Amino acid sequence: MSRTILVYAESRDGKLRQVALETLGAAHILAGDGDSIRILLAGSNITEATTALTPYGTDTIYTIEHDDMENYTPDVYMAAVQAAIGEAQPDVVLFGHTAIGRDLAPLTAASMSAGQISDVTAIEVEDGETSFTRPLYAGKAFEKRVFQSGPWVVTIRPNNIPAAEPSPDGGSSNIVDIAYPAPLLRTIVKDVVRKTTGKIDLAEAKIVISGGRGVKSADGFKPLEELADLLGGAVGASRGACDAGYCDYALQIGQTGKVVTPEIYIACGISGAIQHLAGMSQSRVIIAINKDPEAPIFKVADYGIVGDLFDIVPLLTEEFRKV
Ligand code: FAD
Repeated sequence: MSRTILVYAESRDGKLRQVALETLGAAHILAGDGDSIRILLAGSNITEATTALTPYGTDTIYTIEHDDMENYTPDVYMAAVQAAIGEAQPDVVLFGHTAIGRDLAPLTAASMSAGQISDVTAIEVEDGETSFTRPLYAGKAFEKRVFQSGPWVVTIRPNNIPAAEPSPDGGSSNIVDIAYPAPLLRTIVKDVVRKTTGKIDLAEAKIVISGGRGVKSADGFKPLEELADLLGGAVGASRGACDAGYCDYALQIGQTGKVVTPEIYIACGISGAIQHLAGMSQSRVIIAINKDPEAPIFKVADYGIVGDLFDIVPLLTEEFRKV
């Protein structure tokens, strides 16, 4: 029996987020012959994001655009999700495991009486059974879950599932505008004060250069920022560095900070406390720079450099500049 998979494509400031394409990638893994993939794009300014999605050759892109959607509130966005669900009648709804996805997914699952599997890092379809892998206990273990019945709601951890590729034939998608459902707004956002945490979103960055208490000051982050800029990465931090006032808490990675899974994570002057590992141990390649050869970070590192970060980081920057 054919199924309909609805993908919530997250955008920010009118631009499609990378996680939207990874969520679409997850839909491609799930979709069998005859299944239909549809996308919901909602926001206040989504023309560019709609154009960016069209080449992926999806059956339908539902768009819902309104000034009320400039800032996220669950009232507005949940109404949009429900309007799309009304149109698509999906069997599966996929979200990115982001702040917004983590908010909308359980509301969606409750509204559909669906089961939910969250924070999925891998999907396997074998002998007609689909299993979803997710980390447990701050990444110390993994479990594989399967749904016993439908509908399904799933959230996809950023940077784990390969992003969808545009259709080789140029692709085209049927775009269906859905009227803004104008829900009752119980709360509205009056103002958003953004903290600038760098040019690249930490949660989506492919390369993260993180500093710990070993950077010793706010100025100590400068060599890390230089290397991150050169490599097109983002700067992160341990709580030790945040608590010491060297950087903003928006950069904190770990159990009580952000979870990142970049392709390369470079930990500079970070001891490797369990709470920090909870936020980065799933990174594909971990490089640790620490002057203490006994630092626990070396136990999880793929490559370790024992030395002073103020010598090593500028050397790396110099070498990468030559490439
Ligand atoms: P330190 O442990 O002080 O390590 C500094 C390291 O820098 C040392 O290994 C040292 O050898 C090295 N170093 C010093 N100078 C240099 C140099 N010049 N060159 C190279 N290396 C150098 N922590 C997090 O990170 N994220 C969290 O989300 C988090 N949540 C927590 C939640 C709870 C409930 C609790 C109790 C703690 C939490 N922590 C968290 C704190 C955590 O336990 C550690 O205290 C913290 O991660 C330590 O930060 P650090 O590694 O930067 O500092």
